[in-house]
Amino acid sequence: MTDKQKRIADVIAYFESWCPPSLAEKWDNVGLQVGTLDQAVSGVLTTLDVTEAVVDEAIMHNANLIIAHHPLLFAPPKKLDIDTPKGRVIQKLLKHDITVYAAHTNLDIVEGGVNDLMADALGLEQKRVFLPLGHQIFKKLIVFVPKTHEQNVKDALHTNGAGNVGNYEKVSFVSEGSGYFQPNAEAQPFIGQAGEIERVEEVRIEMLVPEENISKAVAAMIEAHPYEEVAYDVYPVEMKGKAYGLGRTGKLPSPMTLQELAQLVKQRYDVQHIRFTGDASASVETVAVLGGSGRDYIDQAMQQADVYITGDLTFHETQDAMLAGLCLIDPGHYAEKIMKQKVADYLQPAFTNVPIRVSQVNTDPFQAI
Ligand code: ZN
Ligand code: ZN
Repeated sequence: MTDKQKRIADVIAYFESWCPPSLAEKWDNVGLQVGTLDQAVSGVLTTLDVTEAVVDEAIMHNANLIIAHHPLLFAPPKKLDIDTPKGRVIQKLLKHDITVYAAHTNLDIVEGGVNDLMADALGLEQKRVFLPLGHQIFKKLIVFVPKTHEQNVKDALHTNGAGNVGNYEKVSFVSEGSGYFQPNAEAQPFIGQAGEIERVEEVRIEMLVPEENISKAVAAMIEAHPYEEVAYDVYPVEMKGKAYGLGRTGKLPSPMTLQELAQLVKQRYDVQHIRFTGDASASVETVAVLGGSGRDYIDQAMQQADVYITGDLTFHETQDAMLAGLCLIDPGHYAEKIMKQKVADYLQPAFTNVPIRVSQVNTDPFQAI
């Protein structure tokens, strides 16, 4: 299949293999917002927000898929009034067959997403999840395969996310043994004959499978397995995988003053202005960072870091935090625009013939003088 025939659904499936909607918070509204996944993709535009100017940009570049961080639709609309700004945006999208897809809290939470990008931009070391929401859950998959098909079945499992454990991929355990079966008259056995007990040299393949990959891994395994009836077991596993959640904490490569860190944040996040609070000459080393609005987590930040970097801070909360000795840096909510380039960079190598652009529209509602 050439890229010319690639569909929006293919782009989204690839995107979701990194950033699944299942990672999103329950209250969120991620995934398809407007349009269809079932059409050929002519181009992709990545953006923080979907405004009319962004839609115009997509039209200009003949991009029929917009991937945004902030959902276009959140509260269910009661009517689609095309005399409102949002109504006009939706009308324009539909008129031009443009699909909008949103990856919101799932893109904040996912490894390599908004929060990791913001932490990595500052060079944070010993990174951890700031606000863990849970842990990765595993299943144990065991399958019995004739020795001749061991590699085929393993390959099918690995390409579908089985055997991914922490920083290791393609993890498995294989032991040898004998499989016995007696096909009945209805069976169409790969090996053996109806009514006769058969003994086959088999291997038992064991893998840990992240819960979110188990269905597709099992489906691919059955597809690759030569037997009519595949013998396999799936067990729950008590052991917890990596924590996932919002925000990141870490250490700066070396201590610096709050003022220096504030400058670094401004430069690395490429924002027009930042606000900060605390003693500008104070030495800071441990950092908590949370993209978007993080003012609800000031208390947790105080327990884990010298300085908390987040957007949308308000007067009283900031004042309380300052009096309690926490340094705060507010780069604005718009600092999340860091996701635009990352999403484009992730998709481009897999869709080399599809133009994938980063929106140049500034959707920050604030200006500073
Ligand atoms: Zn976000
Ligand atoms: Zn946001």
